[in-house]
Amino acid sequence: MKAIQIKKTGGPEALEVVEIPVPQPKPNEAVVKVAASGVNFIDVYHREGRYQVELPFVIGQEGAGVVSAVGAEVKSVQTGERVAWTSVMGSYAEYVAVPADRLVKIPQGVSEREAAAVMLQGMTAHYLAYTTFPLKRGDTALVHAAAGGVGLLLVQLAHNIGVRVIGTVSTEEKAKLAREAGADEIIFYTHSDFESETKRLTGGKGVDVVYDSVGKTTFEKGLNVLRPRGMMALFGGSSGAAPSLDPIILTQKGSLFLTRPSLNNYIATRDDLEMRARALFGMIAAKNLKLRIEHVYPLQVAQQAHRDLEGRKTTGKLLLIP
Ligand code: NDP
Repeated sequence: MKAIQIKKTGGPEALEVVEIPVPQPKPNEAVVKVAASGVNFIDVYHREGRYQVELPFVIGQEGAGVVSAVGAEVKSVQTGERVAWTSVMGSYAEYVAVPADRLVKIPQGVSEREAAAVMLQGMTAHYLAYTTFPLKRGDTALVHAAAGGVGLLLVQLAHNIGVRVIGTVSTEEKAKLAREAGADEIIFYTHSDFESETKRLTGGKGVDVVYDSVGKTTFEKGLNVLRPRGMMALFGGSSGAAPSLDPIILTQKGSLFLTRPSLNNYIATRDDLEMRARALFGMIAAKNLKLRIEHVYPLQVAQQAHRDLEGRKTTGKLLLIP
């Protein structure tokens, strides 16, 4: 089968197309014929070696497809069933072996491409909006990179709950998309000061929560736009890692809460994984959550997908099709 392997970490050129044997399932695994693999920022961190993985490895964390073989102990899924997964390495490939307890079944009304598009970024948006800082009607949230993969989903979830959403973006095109997703206000954080703009838009009160995936260029100012006892949910570093912080700063800025969450801790149990998948698939089938699958690339051109994602060119989801 074809797969995208990393033999040596580095730039997009480190993504190599290789021919390797189809994996055989261990007793607790199912092998899935991949219909679509999701491209995510975490793949860039794995490719660069910022998050270390033993070499060589087949890259990719997310996908959907049809079960082609199951291990001897597997009872929860059968050959022929449509399934999706996230946080399982090896997804940029024609086949992948996945522990059966990490697979969720795709219900009718949801396509395999939609399922692949929502597992990682959608579940992230879901835990941020419903668990990390459980949003409620009337709250105000600042969402950075509001037209990004997680961003467009998080804006929709927040909007549907009745939250006032302030979104930051870098271009007019991204502003339009974020508005369509439900952002009430847009700030162009690349050429205006989002701190003073957010204060102006909230009449000096500040926001209840900042969802920050940008990190280095936004984190410190984000702490200045929170209301007392507001929450900074720092969940990524697309511009680089956020600087370290002395906890006393949180006191000085209004007894703030700071968390640095990771999806893995929010889908660690089978119940959590199923609850989030059910909620998201339900919203997609009911047309309450719109997925923007912006670009579909053949698996072999994974390098281009990474260049586009890192080049800040993309909005919404990128998929690789084997
Ligand atoms: P996005 O589609 O959001 O892409 C990144 C966006 O960040 C860009 O489009 C850009 O939007 C913005 N950005 C700002 N500064 C930079 C910069 N210097 N270089 C590149 N982009 C920049 O990606 P994802 O939705 O896949 O992921 C968003 C972030 O969330 C990533 O950092 C990822 O690691 C993190 N993440 C964390 C998870 C967790 O559980 N902790 C789970 C999933 C994702 P603009 O042009 O509008 O500024």
